[in-house]
Amino acid sequence: MKYTRRDFVKTNAIIGTGAMMGFNFVSPDVKPALMGGKPVRTSSWPSWPRWNPDTDEPRVLEVLRSGVWSRSGVVKEFENKWADTIGSKRCLTVVNGTNALIAALVQADIGGGDEVLVSSYTFIASVAAILQTGAMPVFVDSDPETFQIDPEEIKKKITSRTRAILPVHILGLPADMESIMAIAKANNLVVIEDACQGWLAEINHKKVGTFGLAGCFSFQNSKNLPMGEGGAIVSDDDDFMDKCYSYHNYGYAYGSLVGAVNQGAVMAGTKIRLTEYQAAIGLSQLERLDGETQLRETNATYLKGKLEGIPGLSTYVLTPNVTRAVFHLFPFRFHSEGFKGLSREVFIKALKAEGIPCSSGYIPLNDKLYLKDAFTSKNYKRMYQADELDFDKFVANNQCPITDKLCNEEAIWLSQSMLLGTQSDMDDIANAIYKIHENAEELLNYKG
Ligand SMILES: *Cc1c(COP(=O)(O)O)cnc(C)c1O
Repeated sequence: MKYTRRDFVKTNAIIGTGAMMGFNFVSPDVKPALMGGKPVRTSSWPSWPRWNPDTDEPRVLEVLRSGVWSRSGVVKEFENKWADTIGSKRCLTVVNGTNALIAALVQADIGGGDEVLVSSYTFIASVAAILQTGAMPVFVDSDPETFQIDPEEIKKKITSRTRAILPVHILGLPADMESIMAIAKANNLVVIEDACQGWLAEINHKKVGTFGLAGCFSFQNSKNLPMGEGGAIVSDDDDFMDKCYSYHNYGYAYGSLVGAVNQGAVMAGTKIRLTEYQAAIGLSQLERLDGETQLRETNATYLKGKLEGIPGLSTYVLTPNVTRAVFHLFPFRFHSEGFKGLSREVFIKALKAEGIPCSSGYIPLNDKLYLKDAFTSKNYKRMYQADELDFDKFVANNQCPITDKLCNEEAIWLSQSMLLGTQSDMDDIANAIYKIHENAEELLNYKG
């Protein structure tokens, strides 16, 4: 539905008086804050992470006072709760999401010489994890409307060396797992889901992270389930999870992995265990995750509806059969031509000046120096032919024009914590964007 300007004003006025005292519709004719006008909003946004001393501190203090700080019962309790919450047979916590991905990839037997197809619109950790295993990341372009990995592009990138797909549920919006699993099955590929932004997201009422062999989560401070640092692997595969456990604990025997008495570690492992006090923080945050997720979803849906009334931008589209999106970020696409040729950079400055924090999000990852560093490392030189490590050739073979456009021209993000505000807060966001749209011409005169 497209509104005329008059309808938009009317809708806002009605919603404003109906929903919230103190709502005030901003006449689009007032001066943009970036040009010295009055900002749409001066009050603050919900802070993150959330901490309620009464409910959150007793468990953490109990752990601290017990002196049992290294992995024990509280970690186990969190793992059981997270497995139940996600609908997965097993859960293993680790130090962070990055190491959850590394452990899952390594225990899925991904390593030197293997190609791993990965979302190109993602956080660096998704790709860093692949490089840590010695495998070769292969960047797959995105669907511009969903911001997710495009299954049709996955098909084009499969070679005889492809071993795994690492789809990322980026922004908390599910990737198209039904299509991805069909492709994986047809081509005998392992799927490890990067669900580090996907806590509680669902496709057909099935949680993301449970479609592939394994799902990996992050509990870093900024994430929707924060514990400072932390991560988890979930899977229904007992042998795989026993291996992950052993790997995360120096390679000591665990479950189906049995060693000889007094012969020590049974596999090449590492040490990436979560602590008890992190798990205690996680348990308190888990209590509120579902309620907060519900609020984010309600506010995001409302905001999306309002933004659809503003010309010059596109709101996100969900992949098929999504029953829950969890909005680690609220994205939309800015089209310069719909704003009289205004640059995204000035749009962002103008929106911030109106009191709405926002960012342009990710930068492209397929052509950056870290890849060159990996390709010139001793290990990579011993695992690959020289021409496979030709950086320019790699960049040429890994072009992702849609992702480039999202990163360089179109994407605008609002953070998850803003979605924990009120409906009137969402009105402020829409009003500020509308104000900028109506004043785009004046903003063209902005000289940084
Ligand atoms: C945060 C994140 C990670 C890494 O998690 P850490 O806990 O920070 O190591 C991986 N992938 C994505 C998409 C993320 O957002």
